[in-house]
Amino acid sequence: LLRLIELRKSFGATAVLRGVSLDVAENEVIALIGASGSGKSTLLRAVNLLEPIDDGQILLDGADISDPRVDANAVRAGIGVVFQHFNLFPHLSVLDNLSLAARHVHGWSRSAAERRSRELLEQVGLLEKEREFPDRLSGGQQQRVALARAIVTEPRLLLLDEITSALDPELVGEVLALVRRLAHTGTTILMATHEMSFARDVADRVAFLDGGVVAELGPAAQVLGAPQHVRTREFLARIS
Ligand code: ATP
Ligand code: MG
Repeated sequence: LLRLIELRKSFGATAVLRGVSLDVAENEVIALIGASGSGKSTLLRAVNLLEPIDDGQILLDGADISDPRVDANAVRAGIGVVFQHFNLFPHLSVLDNLSLAARHVHGWSRSAAERRSRELLEQVGLLEKEREFPDRLSGGQQQRVALARAIVTEPRLLLLDEITSALDPELVGEVLALVRRLAHTGTTILMATHEMSFARDVADRVAFLDGGVVAELGPAAQVLGAPQHVRTREFLARIS
């Protein structure tokens, strides 16, 4: 579904991505791990065309979306994104947050968009909050709304960047449970995370980003349980 080929990106003199290659298969969940500053967010932003790359190619369904001539908005419309800090629209109700893009980007009717939005709110256990504004919800509730919003129009690909790291520990569980459910229903997910237990539970494969490249890639249990590379072992030892 998604193929990254030799992606390169520098900020000034700092080379962050030095030739990142990665294939994400349809229905696969890949967890991106790596030290702070290793380029996980930069990589996710590049895939969503929020960060122009210096070199390399990003193929989505075989089409080169890194070609500057592509319509970035059309590409983004097919990708769901949730970032660390809740990015709900503060001036819109929960229901409007969910249905806005479906109506205005995808051209759904109001009734169709709201019907689908309510189905998802029910799934994340927040239907009774549809009229509330985001600042009246807990962090965990806001992140569940953000996840529901990201999947209203059934994107082929979901990008998740540290979606639990701004949450109080007791709220993490409910968000992780939701991602786990999405993974089981066949959503293709590329997610950056510091939660190794979550990566082990949910991801099919884990990619360890180090030195600007994918230094190790393999089944989650193997990379996290029996890493092959000394850098991966050092990283896992440091954070555990
Ligand atoms: P974390 O685990 O802390 O979220 P990360 O792996 O997501 O880290 P990035 O946010 O991708 O790391 O940052 C990679 C490097 O790129 C860092 O050194 C950062 O300072 C730098 N960087 C990121 N965005 C920019 C920018 N817009 N301008 C300059 N430097 C940037
Ligand atoms: Mg980051």
